[in-house]
Amino acid sequence: MECSGIGLHSGAPVLLRILPASAGTGIVFRRTDLDGFEIEAISRNVARVSYATSLMKKGVLISTTEHILSAFTGMGIDNAIVELNNLELPILDGSARPFVDMIQKAGVRKQRRARTYLKIRREFELREGNKFIAVYPSDVYGVSYSINFPHPLIGKETFQVELSNGNYLRHIAAARTFGSREDERAMRNMGLIRGASRENCIVLTRDGVENGPLRFSDEFVRHKVLDLVGDLALLGKQILGNVVADRAGHAMHTALVSRVLRDKTLWEEVTVSEDDEPVAAASSVHAAAGSAL
Ligand SMILES: [Zn+2]
Repeated sequence: MECSGIGLHSGAPVLLRILPASAGTGIVFRRTDLDGFEIEAISRNVARVSYATSLMKKGVLISTTEHILSAFTGMGIDNAIVELNNLELPILDGSARPFVDMIQKAGVRKQRRARTYLKIRREFELREGNKFIAVYPSDVYGVSYSINFPHPLIGKETFQVELSNGNYLRHIAAARTFGSREDERAMRNMGLIRGASRENCIVLTRDGVENGPLRFSDEFVRHKVLDLVGDLALLGKQILGNVVADRAGHAMHTALVSRVLRDKTLWEEVTVSEDDEPVAAASSVHAAAGSAL
């Protein structure tokens, strides 16, 4: 399956294809404009993180990876090759839904190999000023995200979801990225959001939304969940744990990933074969075991 679009920050046109991959491959990005140079979607390759998450290997960049990685996790896809002919993923409609649609059209293949999960054993908390992110032991993958955004439509919003039983597709995938008119000029001056438009971003005005209607009344916090799920894909394995975030962003999401990976007392690898029902894990975790495109 392929699609084309422009990068949110670079504004660069890009053609994207999603290809199947064998068990154990993980998610790998391939730059077709650079002789097929490959960058694995893992924490070690995280480059710089501010308004988006970027991967870099040997000086080669792949930017704004979070939405497609979120779609893969949300659909239980462990293995795929993502080909692109430029440095940034297409922003499409600003959500993960176009990627989900692409993957669904391509079809998902179940692989026989057992899936290995990263199961959280001990809590880990990270605080920076009023920002907070933490992970706690759980038999399923759960996320609880809070934001506090000074805007009449937003304010304090919390969204809690267990990423199983189709919850990602129903409640998270369609939530779009957002930004305010006031921030726009500053970000453009920094060379960011050159590709932003009303078609790929909810534009907040002083007291409303310029390009409504919203897809959910709390679309903003749902998009934060989407971003978090995408950044946590850089663990390289599906996580079994409860993630709690408050006013965090890409930098804290990826910091959690690298800190958790570094401290092996926090987690253990649990392998679940297709025939074993993971204890207390949701049925969709079982159904998705070892899936690929
Ligand atoms: Zn996002």
